[in-house]
Amino acid sequence: MAHNDTAPTAPFLQRYVLEAVPRYTSYPPATRFHDGVGAADWKSWMDDQPERPVLSLYIHIPFCKTMCWYCGCNTTVPNKDDRVARYLDALDKEIQTRPIPADGIVHHIHFGGGSPDMLSPARFRRIMEAFRERFEIAEDAEIAVELDPRGVTEDLAAALAGAGVTRASLGVQDLSPEVQTLIHRIQPAESVARAAMRLRRAGIAAINMDIMYGLPAQTVERVEATARAVADMGADRVSVFGYAHVPWFKKHQRAIPEDRLPGARERFDQMHAAAACLKDTGYQAIGFDHFARPDDSLARAARSGRLRRNFQGYTNDPYDVLIGYGASSISESRQGYLQNLTDPAHYANALESGAPVQVRGLSRTAEECATGERIARLLCDFEVEAGPDGFDRNALADVIADGLVELSGDRLIVTAAGRPYVRNIAARIDPAFQTAQNQHSQAV
Ligand code: SF4
Repeated sequence: MAHNDTAPTAPFLQRYVLEAVPRYTSYPPATRFHDGVGAADWKSWMDDQPERPVLSLYIHIPFCKTMCWYCGCNTTVPNKDDRVARYLDALDKEIQTRPIPADGIVHHIHFGGGSPDMLSPARFRRIMEAFRERFEIAEDAEIAVELDPRGVTEDLAAALAGAGVTRASLGVQDLSPEVQTLIHRIQPAESVARAAMRLRRAGIAAINMDIMYGLPAQTVERVEATARAVADMGADRVSVFGYAHVPWFKKHQRAIPEDRLPGARERFDQMHAAAACLKDTGYQAIGFDHFARPDDSLARAARSGRLRRNFQGYTNDPYDVLIGYGASSISESRQGYLQNLTDPAHYANALESGAPVQVRGLSRTAEECATGERIARLLCDFEVEAGPDGFDRNALADVIADGLVELSGDRLIVTAAGRPYVRNIAARIDPAFQTAQNQHSQAV
């Protein structure tokens, strides 16, 4: 097993940084989802599960109090509470009616968004009660919630703890007032520290914090200061995400001043500065963008080869079936992926009228499952064994020549210099990506 570590001295190689490669949070990637699969497939997949399958539940709450300009999530700012109430009724109906495996046991529940802190304590309890009626939930299940620190009141913290929540993820991003103004998310360090303190006092011991690089007016020094601050606040896990500027797709991002965005080289340096700072303060690097205290369950999973990759990024969730509830959520089993309608109003309409909400996705072949597992091992462990046909040395020629990987017998090992480019390397062991590249170069 390779040691998960990020080289502070990895070279900046622009052509890999600019190469459009999948994030590989699923395999095949979500860009290949289509509308030829749906609810009938889900039913047959659920009828064909191992005995006593391990289940994971994801619930999407697509609402926020205000819109952050950098946001890439599927969320809206509801102008009336009716919209939230109607959505929660629909969610309730989906929980009651979606086919599930006969004798599954839930080990993990994750509330994402949006901002699940938009839910009142009573609404949060209602969802958990619906789950407890529908599923057997393991006593030691992890129940995790993504939270906007500004929404964490004493009451909400107590309600979450009372409903069994064990882990909270706080969105921090950057603590500099100038950056916060430019991204429309004013959230002083004290408000993050207060939220973490309220959650811990209520009994939610595990706290994750998300920080970002590549935001407008961010500098290496500002990213470092934010990384140091979240370490000082005692975050158990820290995720370091790069801002993706796609204003043609996310219209509110047009409010981001493009002339204040850092360039590719600055982004790379900021990412490295955050990684170096977190490692200096005792965190273990997990994959290419997560960090965890060595005694955190994610770090233990990484050391023992049990890390996995899914739509959350890196996870130690050992599920056979991931059931996604709510608008845009994605469900997964070994047979494939299915995504719900993305628009919250369309989602509610469908449930009210009895129409299906799982409308797109893909079923995967055994070969795609095997490729997906190899790619996941590479992204999680930084090394992987060849498939039955060995490695395609032509596809790997550039990353070998650039010293990003080494071949040792039938193993491909990512070097320290190659770790920031592990997704580029994954694309070179992805036959579908290689075929698409070849077709593209022939067409040009
Ligand atoms: S709180 Fe999170 S989900 Fe909501 S707008 Fe801000 S970044 Fe997006």
